[in-house]
Amino acid sequence: MANTEIPGVVRRTDPTGDAAPLVFDSPHTGLLFPDDFKPAIPLDICERVSDWFVEELFGACTRHGAILVEALFRRAYIDPNRDTADLDLSMVAGDWPDPVAVTEKTKRGASLIWKVIDGETAIYPGKLPADLVRHRIETYWRPYHQTLRQALDETFERFGRVYHVDCHSMPEWGDARWGDQGERRADFIVGTRDGTTAGSAFTELVVESLRASGYSVGVNDKFKGVELIRRYSDPAAGRQSLQIEVNRGIYMDEAAITRNERFAGTKAAITRMIEDLEAFARV
Ligand SMILES: [Zn+2]
Repeated sequence: MANTEIPGVVRRTDPTGDAAPLVFDSPHTGLLFPDDFKPAIPLDICERVSDWFVEELFGACTRHGAILVEALFRRAYIDPNRDTADLDLSMVAGDWPDPVAVTEKTKRGASLIWKVIDGETAIYPGKLPADLVRHRIETYWRPYHQTLRQALDETFERFGRVYHVDCHSMPEWGDARWGDQGERRADFIVGTRDGTTAGSAFTELVVESLRASGYSVGVNDKFKGVELIRRYSDPAAGRQSLQIEVNRGIYMDEAAITRNERFAGTKAAITRMIEDLEAFARV
């Protein structure tokens, strides 16, 4: 495979050297708001749910054998890290024949199509027509998943195993909705849905590498991982997935949306983790 891109939707970047059984994905760093996104609130408020600069922090992965898959559309438009059944029907005008399953994300207004920002500010002036919701799923969500699935399947077929790293960032400080208001979060939180999506050797490799660079690392502490690691993992079969949340305080100014003075050091630590992971994965 060569590098591929569906403009405004998804980009796949293949390794620059020998491939390793590694796939990284960055679902929340897209910058495009498609034309049919018509929020009732300013776009810069909708942008707050993005994972700024994360694809850059993990960008060395393609020099260490990994395929990188990135979303190019914004998370506030449709969230690739949700199942399509995780749809809040109170937001949809018209019939929706597909099955839906209310989750804790639905209750928080943070399901497939987010309802609110910061837990309270409604994004849309009213309901979304069902055909518009369908369009977002078929034109954005599905190609992202197809691209990621293909990268994982190709890698698995070639090596008989695949290590998948799903890359995100989180606010520096806790808030009431997560029950950690006023607490500074760990520098990194590694999520494996309580050990169900990845084995302990892969998880510990990532955790210990980041700790060796002097960072605090939590495991399955509130941020356990959602749909992307759930959907594609099968550890018993050699398909392992984990999520990494990078604390925004160690690389950016969240108010100004700029890289801060710690960005280079954090990127270097992530690059060392990628190097460690490459050595681990190639064995
Ligand atoms: Zn994210």
